[in-house]
Amino acid sequence: MKYQLSCEQVTALLSFYAEDKLSTKLARYVREHLEQCPECMEKYIKLKNMIGNFIETQNEEIENPYITKQYEDFKSNLSAYIDNELDDLENIRLKKIAISNPLARQDLENIYTFKKLLHSSFERTKNELKTDYSKSVLSKLQQDKDSKQDPFIKLSIMFFIMITCIVAGVILILYF
Ligand SMILES: [Zn+2]
Repeated sequence: MKYQLSCEQVTALLSFYAEDKLSTKLARYVREHLEQCPECMEKYIKLKNMIGNFIETQNEEIENPYITKQYEDFKSNLSAYIDNELDDLENIRLKKIAISNPLARQDLENIYTFKKLLHSSFERTKNELKTDYSKSVLSKLQQDKDSKQDPFIKLSIMFFIMITCIVAGVILILYF
C-alpha cells in the first residue's frame, strides 16, 4: 500500500517541492498527490509561476543585456567623447553605441546635463567677474579724474622753473 500525503501536508511541502529541496522519496509522494489532486496542482502551478517570475527579475538585475563589452568601452571613452578628444572615427563609433544602447544613451544624457549645469555655473561666475571688471574700470576712471590735475601741476612747475631761469639769465646779463 502506497503512502498518501494529505492536502495540508502537500501544501506545507509545496514550496520545497517547487524548489527541488525535497528528498526523492518525499518528492515522489508530493508528485503522486499532485497528479490526483487538482486543487493542490493549481496551488503548485501558481507557486511555480511566482518563483519563475522572481528568478526572472533577479536575473534581469544581475544580467542587464545592455551591459556589454561595447557599453564598457563606451563608458571608458565617454569623457573623452564629451571633451572632443577623440578622432572622427571614434566619435562615430561612440555615437553609434549611444544610439543602439539605452544605457549608453542615458549616460550620455546624464553627462550632458551635468555639463550644462557646470557650464551655467561657470557662466554665472563669469558674469560675476564681468561686474567686478566693470567695477574696477569705473574705479579706475574715477582715479583718472582725480589725477587729471597732475599734468597741470607738472606743467606749472616746469613753467615756473623756465621763468626763473630766464629771469636769472636776464639778471646775469644785465648786471655782470
Ligand atoms: Zn491535495
